[in-house]
Amino acid sequence: MQGAGEQALIAGGGIGGLAAAIALGRRGIACEVLERSHFAEETGAGIQLGPNATRALDALGVLDAIEPYGFRPDAILVYDGLSGRRLASLPLGTATVERYGTPYVTLRRADLHAALREALNRLAPVALRTGFELSAIDAQTGDVVARAVDGSEAKGACLIGADGLWSALRLLMAPAASLWFTGATAWRAQLPRGNLPAPFAAPVVGLWLGPRTHLVHYPVGGGADLNIVAVTEGGAARQGWNQTGNAASLLASFVPWTKDSKSLLEQVEFWRGWSLYRLTRLESWGAGPVTLLGDAAHPVLPYLAQGAGLALEDAVALAACLAASPSDPAAAFRRYERLRRPRAARVQRSSRRLGWLYHLDAPLALARNLILARRSEEKALRRFDWLYRREDESR
Ligand SMILES: Cc1cc2nc3c(=O)[nH]c(=O)nc-3n(C[C@H](O)[C@H](O)[C@H](O)COP(=O)(O)OP(=O)(O)OC[C@H]3O[C@@H](n4cnc5c(N)ncnc54)[C@H](O)[C@@H]3O)c2cc1C
Repeated sequence: MQGAGEQALIAGGGIGGLAAAIALGRRGIACEVLERSHFAEETGAGIQLGPNATRALDALGVLDAIEPYGFRPDAILVYDGLSGRRLASLPLGTATVERYGTPYVTLRRADLHAALREALNRLAPVALRTGFELSAIDAQTGDVVARAVDGSEAKGACLIGADGLWSALRLLMAPAASLWFTGATAWRAQLPRGNLPAPFAAPVVGLWLGPRTHLVHYPVGGGADLNIVAVTEGGAARQGWNQTGNAASLLASFVPWTKDSKSLLEQVEFWRGWSLYRLTRLESWGAGPVTLLGDAAHPVLPYLAQGAGLALEDAVALAACLAASPSDPAAAFRRYERLRRPRAARVQRSSRRLGWLYHLDAPLALARNLILARRSEEKALRRFDWLYRREDESR
């Protein structure tokens, strides 16, 4: 790269921003991460990492570091939330490692974030600046100047916007693009796994389907706790990851569900919620030496559990493109966008379709349940080859 100390700027030190910094640093490219927060403790979020995500983490040298905090579920078990009947099983555990070469891991988002931060701290060409809330940029002079709300500045040869769903950089680059509320809200909580009844204590990802609702649970904290996510329709749109939830109104969405599932939900005292948004079409992810990455570029609904996975893949791909033409970040970023856009769009489409399928009511739900129940485990897993295989093997 040329100019501004030959460093890349990265706005946002979340999963994608830190991963991009590590990927660039490992290739000897200097960069500075500009993060608005001071990484205060976040409240109980869990994350599922499919084989595509753990492959990207391995490429960043971070897979071993999450091992003590991660959990490798045996399977994804799908249930009908109204009858409690098991509908389908997707084998994970050794099946995933044998088929895709890397594991399926569930863990706390904070543990993944801490492992990325630790890896970043060991890389000499990478710096992290917290308390920098990007609010303006100037890319007219060849270099890119990023300005924060408090007036401070950072200079680089290029700028990568990894500032998440409500990206300030996206708003500057593409003011016409807007987020719209899908009508669904995801609520999360964690419980100790010790005394939970089967099937909630099982070493699996549980996915329970019901009309306009679904429930997902999986172990986190190395297996000590159960992360629970309940998705409901009909709430109000609110920004942020930490809306406080009302246990009684959440339970009202699960009235026709089995006694067991309701008793799990009743054990939770505090729910934290986030409204689920979609982004109107972005014509491009950037211009000149500026681009977007992760949720800023392509927010994805959580039904396929791929938000973090896509951001990690983006980071690895972007670093490879920039390393291939370091003196021309603009060309590198357009190439990265051409490579990543079709994949991100497919994951977005698949996630939307799954959300629709999960929340069906009778009679369509009955047809869905019949189809799921007929599918063999091998066939169920094969349907995810396009997502979990190395990209060069999936084409
Ligand atoms: C606190 C929190 C909790 C979450 N909980 C869940 C969850 O429970 N389940 C789930 O599936 N996903 C959750 N996510 C989202 C998930 O982590 C992301 O979808 C995924 O990791 C994509 O990563 P990303 O880097 O694109 O965005 P993120 O990981 O969201 O990172 C964006 C980063 O940019 C920073 N930022 C924002 N604006 C600015 C600005 N103007 N200037 C500088 N920095 C800025 C933010 O503070 C954040 O650190 C959560 C995200 C956050 C931040």
